[in-house]
Amino acid sequence: MNYISTRDKSVKVSAAAAIAQGISNEGGLFVPDTFSKFSKEDFTALCEMSYIDRAKYVLSKFLNDFTADETDYCVKGAYTGSFDNEEPAPLKALGDNEYMLELWNGPTCAFKDLALQLLPFLLTTSAKKVAGGKKTVILVATSGDTGKAALEGFCDVPDTEIMVFYPSEGVSPMQKLQMDSQKGENVHVCAIKGNFDDAQTGVKKIFTDNAVKERLAQNNMQFSSANSINWGRLAPQIVYYISVYCDLLKSGADLSEGFNVVVPTGNFGNILAAYYAKKMGAPINKLICASNANNVLTDFLRTGTYDRNREFFTTMSPSMDILISSNLERMLFELYGNDDKQVAALQSELSATGKFTVSDQVKQKMDELFFGGCCDDKATLATIEKMFKDKTYLCDTHTAVAVNVCKQYKEETGDNRPTVIASTASPYKFAKSVLTAVTDKEAQTEFDNVRLLASVTNTQVPAPIKALENAEVRFKEICEKDEMLKAVYNALGIE
Ligand SMILES: *Cc1c(COP(=O)(O)O)cnc(C)c1O
Repeated sequence: MNYISTRDKSVKVSAAAAIAQGISNEGGLFVPDTFSKFSKEDFTALCEMSYIDRAKYVLSKFLNDFTADETDYCVKGAYTGSFDNEEPAPLKALGDNEYMLELWNGPTCAFKDLALQLLPFLLTTSAKKVAGGKKTVILVATSGDTGKAALEGFCDVPDTEIMVFYPSEGVSPMQKLQMDSQKGENVHVCAIKGNFDDAQTGVKKIFTDNAVKERLAQNNMQFSSANSINWGRLAPQIVYYISVYCDLLKSGADLSEGFNVVVPTGNFGNILAAYYAKKMGAPINKLICASNANNVLTDFLRTGTYDRNREFFTTMSPSMDILISSNLERMLFELYGNDDKQVAALQSELSATGKFTVSDQVKQKMDELFFGGCCDDKATLATIEKMFKDKTYLCDTHTAVAVNVCKQYKEETGDNRPTVIASTASPYKFAKSVLTAVTDKEAQTEFDNVRLLASVTNTQVPAPIKALENAEVRFKEICEKDEMLKAVYNALGIE
């Protein structure tokens, strides 16, 4: 297998090149041209393995130019000692054929750790093969979770530097503190005066400036991306959907008609990984796509028209506040049977008009694969309260959106197959909102909220959150949005 671009199939590269480069030159995203399909025997073998061994088994199908030793080094490095109880993706039964796939037991308490603990290993191994010994410089614009997970993943990784920009007024107090207190010799954090779009635009501008690229090359450096457009972010996510099938099998669940997966969705990366796991043989019945008030995907799945021309809402599930889901491009490539011309046409329509409509045939395929639903903040809070009351399960604001949409799906269809809900963040990352759902009591500071939440719900504060209270703030820099390049050069010691 090779990696091809969603906008030009004639572009063919190896895994290392796809990961090191991040995005194809003409703007398309890299996807494998073929997918392995696991047999019954494969799954029997996978069932007996640890998470690390399952990850090696699955990822070896994608890392076509990695040796077995290299894959082993990457996977062990990522998942040894970084997740609670050495379990990156534990499955919790909730009763009534429902399960939580908990993806937030890593160092930053969000599911992005599953991919961003591994990406630095994949990227440095890839760069050694294809980048001729250059130092890799990761630039990230973040609205919160990605920035911290990337900093933690790349912290003190040899031959890398990482610089994260976040909007000074656009992240939660916990997220800000998580980033500003980041340890490591190769990490750089800078708040910018502006919003997330300003940060994102600034980073893109630096990325695509040839003079800047040239300047870095003279210093034996090159840029790469840690956003979910990089295939190295998606592949690790496929692993946990294959793994959850094994865990369901072992639990004795009735899988004769498959199982459903519910994913709280923003950029469409996580749910796309579930689709790829289905393609590789995990018997997933429906992919249930859950959105908050920014319900552009719900409308798309229901009508076949994607239209980003709408009001943007700031919600209590900020990691899903997004109107352009960049990984949808990979899904369109699948739905159109790898027709690169069609995908390129739809994407240029999207950038010109902000919308596009898929063919009737594609809409029919979407109906078979997906169910789309959404809920607002009020329903999110009510869901957190009800989940805690009925099942003593405390979920965060993003996961609650998925729980709510799961209920909508069941009421609409009567489908009672085993259903796995992706739980994407610890409730303690959004303590204030979660607290209002479960009690009338209030506290003053962020950490008082955390302690109050723990005592009211009798749950444990995750160690990484606890440690933040006394963490030293290392980064206090705030720069103007047109001074980002200067900040990058400063951080890298380039005159
Ligand atoms: C990033 C994020 C999401 C959205 O995931 P996508 O892969 O972008 O669809 C959902 N929940 C949380 C907590 C996140 O951090």
